[in-house]
Amino acid sequence: MSGRLARRAFLTRALAAPSALVVGFDPDKRSWVMDGSSGPGVPRGQTAPDGGGRPLEGLPRLAGRVSFDEASLDAAALDNGNIVHRQPRAVLQPASVEDIVAMVRYANRHGLHIAMRGQGHSVYGQTHAEAGIVVDSSTLDRVLHVASDSVDAQAGATWAALNRVTVEKGLTPAVMPDTMTLTVGGGVSVGTWGHTSHRFGGLVDMVSELDVVTGEGQLVTCSSQREPELFEMVLAGLGQCALIVRARVRLVRAPDRVVRQNLVYEDLDAFYADQQRLVEDGRFEHLEGRFMKDSGGRWRPRIEVGSFSASTDAELAELQRGLRFASRDAAVRRSYPEYLETKSFVPLPAEPPERDEMRASRRNPSIVGWLPLSAGQSFIEAHVLGSAAALGDTWVVASSVMDTTRFTRPLFKMPDERLAVSFWLFRSAPVDDRRLFEELLASGGDLIDRMRTVGGKRYPPYGLVRAQSEWEEHYGPDVWQRLVRAKRQFDPNNVLTPGPGIFTSPPDLKG
Ligand SMILES: Cc1cc2nc3c(=O)[nH]c(=O)nc-3n(C[C@H](O)[C@H](O)[C@H](O)COP(=O)(O)OP(=O)(O)OC[C@H]3O[C@@H](n4cnc5c(N)ncnc54)[C@H](O)[C@@H]3O)c2cc1C
Repeated sequence: MSGRLARRAFLTRALAAPSALVVGFDPDKRSWVMDGSSGPGVPRGQTAPDGGGRPLEGLPRLAGRVSFDEASLDAAALDNGNIVHRQPRAVLQPASVEDIVAMVRYANRHGLHIAMRGQGHSVYGQTHAEAGIVVDSSTLDRVLHVASDSVDAQAGATWAALNRVTVEKGLTPAVMPDTMTLTVGGGVSVGTWGHTSHRFGGLVDMVSELDVVTGEGQLVTCSSQREPELFEMVLAGLGQCALIVRARVRLVRAPDRVVRQNLVYEDLDAFYADQQRLVEDGRFEHLEGRFMKDSGGRWRPRIEVGSFSASTDAELAELQRGLRFASRDAAVRRSYPEYLETKSFVPLPAEPPERDEMRASRRNPSIVGWLPLSAGQSFIEAHVLGSAAALGDTWVVASSVMDTTRFTRPLFKMPDERLAVSFWLFRSAPVDDRRLFEELLASGGDLIDRMRTVGGKRYPPYGLVRAQSEWEEHYGPDVWQRLVRAKRQFDPNNVLTPGPGIFTSPPDLKG
């Protein structure tokens, strides 16, 4: 990490406000007991074993590596948002699952927070563990076993690595993120939407078994038959009850080739009606609705459709019969592996240090939510496309229609209507343009609040949560109660994954 970046991170740390910690749950009052201390996650009645900033003492014997140097700590405090910077006291690069078990137990004994980090694609500090331990999953990145209908992979494996192995056998997961540099553990922890979700739901709907290390440091295998409650509270569970070390993902036959085409619309009614029709009949395997700026600065709706079976132009045209687009771009044909590598429109260097330099150059207060379709179109028209403040420096607005009944995992929250429409606002401000960043943050907060009033749901990696109570509202009373019970059972000392602010204070987003 550059000196400039390290200095900026230091300043941010120095200015960071202390946070209150939830240290227990009071069943009578139905609320968590807050510890007003500003300490690094020290349960009541204990003191921190050593002063902040000094290396940890009495560490267990580990096969992997623990880093305490500033560069490693700063790197663990930088994510794709570059808004929240909370430094851990140590970064563990585990050589084995046993290292993670030992470190989680250590965190319990010493009252430290501990969080797993994939590739840090989150934007609001969800991977951070202030003055605690960050586990870098990239050293546990093996694809372990491919069967005829599933693949087992370690948490730090990227989707690119997983697919390299499965595609050789003619197989692939039915749902994956758009960007192949995300990790298996990160994807399962956030839930993950993909271009095939209109047919299959979230990535978490494709997961059939997990090995996890609970907040108490127990290594447990869970599935819908075995420890089902733990399983459901880990899928899209943002690392609150356990850290994932292995995931089994169901596989389907991989296509040989994919043909994609952009259908360009003049009319919003036709754009949303056609998406609804394509979701209902499922004729295209790949589907995404999106607004892009044309050369005149006008936001134009387009649907990107993709077929895994059409091989000729005539077949592709036949699949588009009855749709009301105004024009279409040239079709693009690719082999399936090429398609996987090129389906994302997010330009992101895959590897540090270039990736970290790019992350450090901009702040990225992107927001994502799901609206009930009945309110979606007017919301997007009035509050996104019709609002200069909302658009700010937004460079793409994705807006896909989704069948919410395909998303079956309780923690992957969708609006309470059969069809929903997403709004993803990808936006960023140069790191030295504070005014623009504050405008984007304010308009993002405003959009999220408006979304809540029409029954929308935030997507947690881009959720812009400002108060702990927003989580309870997000999950709704029944699911919230389940999560609280699971947290008490599997992570009773509240050591795991403080970053999202579900059982701790949410981060300060002042940047
Ligand atoms: C370029 C880019 C493309 C994206 N594409 C998509 C997409 O197509 N679909 C979509 O739904 N989202 C997408 N996202 C949003 C989302 O931020 C990432 O999917 C998510 O953060 C996973 O990335 P990661 O593997 O780097 O995990 P991180 O960002 O490192 O972690 C995400 C969260 O999961 C926790 N976590 C990570 N690993 C584990 C583990 N093994 N056990 C327990 N908890 C863990 C972390 O503590 C954190 O809270 C994208 C983000 C970016 C920047």
